[in-house]
Amino acid sequence: MTESPNSAYLLKIGELTLKGENRGGFEQVLRRNARSMLKGTGARLVTTDGRYFVHAPENASEKVEFVLDHLFGITGWATTRFCEKAVEAVCAECIAEARGLLANGVKTFKVEARRADKRFPLDSYGLMATAGEAVLDALPALHVDVHKPEAVITVEIREKAYIYSNARKGLRGLPVGTAGHGLLLLSGGIDSPVAGFLMAGRGLYIDAVHFHSYPYTSDEARQKVIRLAEILGRYTCGVRLHIVSFTAVQMRIKEAAPPAWTTVLLRMAMMEAAETIARRHGYACLISGESLSQVASQTIENIRCTESRATLPVLRPLIGMDKESITRIAEKIGTYETSILPYEDCCVLFSPKHPVLRGKVEEASAYYEQLDIGACIEEAVQERDMEKCSFVRR
Ligand code: ATP
Ligand code: MG
Repeated sequence: MTESPNSAYLLKIGELTLKGENRGGFEQVLRRNARSMLKGTGARLVTTDGRYFVHAPENASEKVEFVLDHLFGITGWATTRFCEKAVEAVCAECIAEARGLLANGVKTFKVEARRADKRFPLDSYGLMATAGEAVLDALPALHVDVHKPEAVITVEIREKAYIYSNARKGLRGLPVGTAGHGLLLLSGGIDSPVAGFLMAGRGLYIDAVHFHSYPYTSDEARQKVIRLAEILGRYTCGVRLHIVSFTAVQMRIKEAAPPAWTTVLLRMAMMEAAETIARRHGYACLISGESLSQVASQTIENIRCTESRATLPVLRPLIGMDKESITRIAEKIGTYETSILPYEDCCVLFSPKHPVLRGKVEEASAYYEQLDIGACIEEAVQERDMEKCSFVRR
């Protein structure tokens, strides 16, 4: 299939432009991510004039638009027509664009113009007026509204003339990878995939670790987490998922610790295992989906107990958010439907009726030391499985 000879996608870059000295590096990562995500679509990314364009085969639009909707670091994108830099050609493309808008029920419009190439015979204002009039002459059903138009047709005169309307919002944020690598503690719940998504949007490559208690947890529960990592991976250029069997660790805790403390101690063991993996793979931080006081294990005291087993920074992007806001993001990013599938998590299986609500870190540490589970955790880490979810760039 051949590329469209007169249309492409225009990518808009926002926050990146604010980053001064870093800009070159940020843009390089953005280009690398875009190219890696577009692989297999037949589309190509071209940067000219400080603008990013994607030229795509005509039958690839759905795949390309899917990528652009999952690409951190762009504020928006639009399908743009392009033509030679001649006034008649530009007017003809504005009319064609307006005809499409009219067919979609648009009644009012305005033209905005930017003339980067000062050799073009009309200045921005002249171009707006001329193109606007051409549209009105050709399509009398349309009206100009300069204050609140239903659609804006933008004309940019660069090395070619570009004409577009209806820019779609991008994810914004920073290109994934500009902040290094983080390891996400990924359960099968609603929160942790959202936490991973938010940190990816601040520039972290995300890999994940999941703890299960097979055969007490099912294979479906494992598949569900793999599916979540796959969805997350669409935004992060793939996710490597470390799958760790925590059955032996949990059994040990259940046998040797007071029942009220089992959840806190399990969390501490998870942190220790996650930290071990992170250090071996060079992840710079851990990420969890905790939200303050959402459940018993997430009081500030219990979070302190959990965190006492980590020395790397533990990022908790949901800490101040309520469940409704978190759920809204889960729906938007496409993880919600999978998260609510009814498979058990290993924490729930062994959770006590009356968990400690405000564990003292000294007491928690004393119980933890008594368990003597260092070797057990090490073995679980050694024997972990790895899954590559979505397209992994490394
Ligand atoms: P989630 O919706 O992410 O499961 P939650 O509200 O159920 O969160 P908890 O079960 O207390 O809360 O878990 C808090 C955090 O601990 C999770 O967000 C996740 O980062 C981590 N976590 C919990 N269980 C697991 C697990 N089985 N494997 C890996 N990480 C886990
Ligand atoms: Mg959970």
